[in-house]
Amino acid sequence: MKIIMMGAPGAGKGTHAKEISKKYCIPHISTGDILREEVQKNTDLGKTAKSYMDIGKLLPDDIIIKIVKKRLQKDDCKKGYLFDGFPRTIRQAELLDTISDLEAVIYLKCQDDLIIKRLTGRRISRDGKIYNIYFDPPPPGVDVYQRDDDNEEIIKERLKVFYDTFTPLMDFYKKKNIFFEVNGDGGREVVLENIFKILDGI
Ligand code: ADP
Repeated sequence: MKIIMMGAPGAGKGTHAKEISKKYCIPHISTGDILREEVQKNTDLGKTAKSYMDIGKLLPDDIIIKIVKKRLQKDDCKKGYLFDGFPRTIRQAELLDTISDLEAVIYLKCQDDLIIKRLTGRRISRDGKIYNIYFDPPPPGVDVYQRDDDNEEIIKERLKVFYDTFTPLMDFYKKKNIFFEVNGDGGREVVLENIFKILDGI
């Protein structure tokens, strides 16, 4: 199965993508996670990525396309994959189109005020579990950190960038009849159930 998860930052793409990846046995490919790993390792790519991520801007398409092409060559992608955070521009989508036969694009639709609470409150444990200080606080003793770009100023920029680029992408995939919208405001289980209903039907 070849799927894309779309949604504003904080819509829950990463959280749901992990469950979808488990259920359908396909790798979860998050360009944001790949870039954050490079930042942590302080590679040349990581240094470049950080300068964009710190201000909430998108990286140049050529860099992202190179990363994705390399990732898709790995064996685990043979049966399919789930993209999270890619494509973010029409150029990325067009490129993907030449190397993949996508089956579904799931758009998680969320309200902005909820998104801001989710992102400002988001805390991540060292093993990658996502908590939220407002809705799902980490248990005492669990060591958590906050993403550098999860502060209100940068969140507003990330949201602006998302909405500016989302509409053309939505139109692109609607024309291909593979675009599905899911209400992402509900609890995790309900949202996930709705996503599974769509994916089980394709
Ligand atoms: P979010 O959806 O929460 O903003 P991501 O983890 O998907 O977070 O991305 C974080 C940052 O990484 C983005 O703000 C951007 O700078 C960069 N990035 C990730 N994916 C892409 C992409 N496909 N194209 C360009 N930049 C990207």
